[in-house]
Amino acid sequence: MKKKRIYLSSPTMHGDEQKYIKEAFDANWVAPLGPNVDRFERDMAEYIGVKHAAALVSGTAALHLAVKLAGVKLGEVVLCSDLTFVATVNPISYEGGVQVFIDSERETWNMNPKALERAFDKYPSCKTVIVANLYGIPAKLDEIQAICDSHGAIMIEDAAESLSSTYKGKQTGSFGNYNVLSFNGNKLITTSGGGMLLSDDEEAIKKARYWSTQSRDPVPWYQHREIGYNYRMSNIVAGIGRGQLLHVDEHKRIKERIYYLYKEGLKDLPIKMNPYHVESRPNFWLSCITINSDAMSVCTPEKIRLALEKENIESRPIWKPMHLQPVFAGRDFISVEGDVGADIFERGLCLPSDIKMTEEEQNEVIDIIKSCF
Ligand SMILES: *Cc1c(COP(=O)(O)O)cnc(C)c1O
Repeated sequence: MKKKRIYLSSPTMHGDEQKYIKEAFDANWVAPLGPNVDRFERDMAEYIGVKHAAALVSGTAALHLAVKLAGVKLGEVVLCSDLTFVATVNPISYEGGVQVFIDSERETWNMNPKALERAFDKYPSCKTVIVANLYGIPAKLDEIQAICDSHGAIMIEDAAESLSSTYKGKQTGSFGNYNVLSFNGNKLITTSGGGMLLSDDEEAIKKARYWSTQSRDPVPWYQHREIGYNYRMSNIVAGIGRGQLLHVDEHKRIKERIYYLYKEGLKDLPIKMNPYHVESRPNFWLSCITINSDAMSVCTPEKIRLALEKENIESRPIWKPMHLQPVFAGRDFISVEGDVGADIFERGLCLPSDIKMTEEEQNEVIDIIKSCF
């Protein structure tokens, strides 16, 4: 019999979710919107420390509305993280904008503030920046915020992977003018699928709600002055979110424990864990490694991935940098110290970081990795 698969990051449900779903069923408040949506928005905004929030069908939808709120126009350059999931940057294209990719720094694997400065030298009229917190590790958000401010640019923070991570004592998802969360199935908490846009700007969130419900004017008949979208989260889905939010810090603690068990278990190998800034407290959504350059002749990430897969254990290459994606061929890429993103991609691997993984299972993962060297 094939043994139970160990996942990278799968949904972890607790039962509280069902209570809120049942409430919605009992009231026949199944769709759309409703009290679960209102409470989920309020509770999440309070948790993050941002004034207003709009619950949406996905993180990607939230990013799209953030790009619209930033007013990105046809042909306009947007400076964005390079080493990230494609959903961070696709919405720029939805609005006809042009991605310019900013290389990572080694300290957090996130957008390099120096490269961002260099990009503003080259594109001084740029008005929008999108920064992601990779694998739950906060970027140098205060520095990036200061650079955006000094150039009068709007900062969009993609905190899809970093819910509950803090940087200098402040929650990620609260640094941008517009902030994005995702509740996709593999994220720290999940609603099966969903996302949220957060901002202190009440008018912006009102506008996002308007766009997300087909831009329907507040009159009895269906009247529309703008193009709209069907992006709103349903009351059932929000019920799952309310239940999950009760467990967000517990999930964070488990992910942290997983990270440090890997760090300890792998410490004698020529590898490094994904690094973080000393003043941050990451959620360690995914534990990742890079193999030291001089050990790449002995073992590659692909060798480890295949060895794990043979034992029915999931691992995954690091996100392939955006400037290396065929779909973005020809886009500009700004770096200050070679191509850091490509280097991390080449030497890196995401390890199974599932909340339900037992210590015994994780030790098995560690033993398999050791056997590859
Ligand atoms: C998951 C993710 C998104 C997109 O969220 P969805 O809810 O899946 O649309 C955006 N950015 C990053 C960095 C992500 O990891």
